[in-house]
Amino acid sequence: MSIAETATAFQAYVQEMLHYQEALTLMEWDLRTGAPKRGAELRAEAIGTLSSQVFRMKTSDQMGDYLEKLGQVSADLDEVTRKSVREMQREYDLYRKIPEDRFHEFVVLASKSESVWEDAKRTSNFSLFQPYLEKIVDFTREFVEYWGYTDSKYDTLLDQYEQGMTVKQIDPIFTALRAETITLLQAIQNAGQRVSEEGFRRHCDVASQRKLSLRLLEQMGYDFNAGRLDETVHPFETSVNRYDVRVTTKFLPNDMRSALFSTIHEGGHALYEQGISPNLIGTPLAGGVSNGIHESQSRFWENFIGRSREFWEYNYKHVLEVFPSQFADISMDEFYRGINYVQPSLIRIEADELTYNLHIMVRYEIEKGLVDGTLAVKDLPEIWRARMKEYLGIEPDNDSEGVLQDVHWSDGSFGYFPTYSLGNIYAAQFAAAMAKALPDFKEQVRRGDLSQIRDWLRQNIHQYGKLRTPEEIVKQATGEDLDAKYLIAYLKDKFSALYGL
Ligand code: ZN
Repeated sequence: MSIAETATAFQAYVQEMLHYQEALTLMEWDLRTGAPKRGAELRAEAIGTLSSQVFRMKTSDQMGDYLEKLGQVSADLDEVTRKSVREMQREYDLYRKIPEDRFHEFVVLASKSESVWEDAKRTSNFSLFQPYLEKIVDFTREFVEYWGYTDSKYDTLLDQYEQGMTVKQIDPIFTALRAETITLLQAIQNAGQRVSEEGFRRHCDVASQRKLSLRLLEQMGYDFNAGRLDETVHPFETSVNRYDVRVTTKFLPNDMRSALFSTIHEGGHALYEQGISPNLIGTPLAGGVSNGIHESQSRFWENFIGRSREFWEYNYKHVLEVFPSQFADISMDEFYRGINYVQPSLIRIEADELTYNLHIMVRYEIEKGLVDGTLAVKDLPEIWRARMKEYLGIEPDNDSEGVLQDVHWSDGSFGYFPTYSLGNIYAAQFAAAMAKALPDFKEQVRRGDLSQIRDWLRQNIHQYGKLRTPEEIVKQATGEDLDAKYLIAYLKDKFSALYGL
């Protein structure tokens, strides 16, 4: 076979795999959005079959053969094929470098461990989960040896979620951000301003909340002919294909902020997927490049736009339109304060914009320690409480609200947490670059015109899919390497004004 023929065969093979993947994505979306309960068990079996098929194709000798042949002539390939090969090679190595029996044992353990974690969390009993987590950590450390590492074992894990990211890069960024955040938090607490949240607890019917969510998505430029909005317990975005990018939100009758910000957040993820160049359809590059860059898009819309004063200067009238009695006695200014209320809390997913990153840093420090062997699993509850106290000034009474609160460690997803904060850091740096390119962008938000903002993101980030690495995207969109100073400046500005510091 000539190079061109091999490349064509490889592309057809990948496309077939992506078609199975598309069916899987749709079946999973359906399961989470209201598939009949009685069908769930059989559906799980069908999902199992299709997932195995995708896994087999990703790791097959046939795939290995394509990757080897095309890898040798990489310089002669067009960019899309070359980078598609690079992308599939990453996944191939991830599984093929691990002995099959060990990988199988791990998969069985991980699924058992997740259900044990659920029980442990429910009963707030860490000792139940401890032996499972110990095995998960042992497996992870063993796998890192197969995958290989240079500086730090943890880098190998980070790389799976944020290609190219290292401990060396993150450490100073997080250290600076932590110090500034803690200082700012203390100043806010000393200012002693209380914000009443009572107004948000008034009953708001779901139909009107839905109307508001749809209006905001429309304003963001979400393409409803290539997507839809549904309701789930845990909001998410999922890309069935390039022209079918769906979002879900969560409606709480007694706190309309839940749907508001879930919708904007997931809408931000969706705009990314809807903005990928159509030239990448049918290739493994037609998706967001990394967890951190993906999260930067959702956080940009949720926080930098959705929690800005300008956004509500335009949109508050829409809130009043659907909930005239509930918000009659609440001014736009009070509303703005209410959606930006800062208060240290025990639960990460309920944290405010400022303290959120401190929750991530607690987890990051622990993960590094577990992976390099300087921390023992049995000590985690105590370490957790100590770190929470040090960073946030509060500590949990029980492990359910402490070390057991997140699912991530139960299946060995180490390296994932930092990407949430990286998302915030990227978002701030993108926002700063955008403000240079569009000097009147706040004015535009105030007018409810978000089109140029969306276009800037599309131009500089979305269109590339996985064609560019996270590092290249940041560099080319902002002219600099990743730096926490933009997020620090943004947080200082915003919260100083809000709390009169
Ligand atoms: Zn997200």
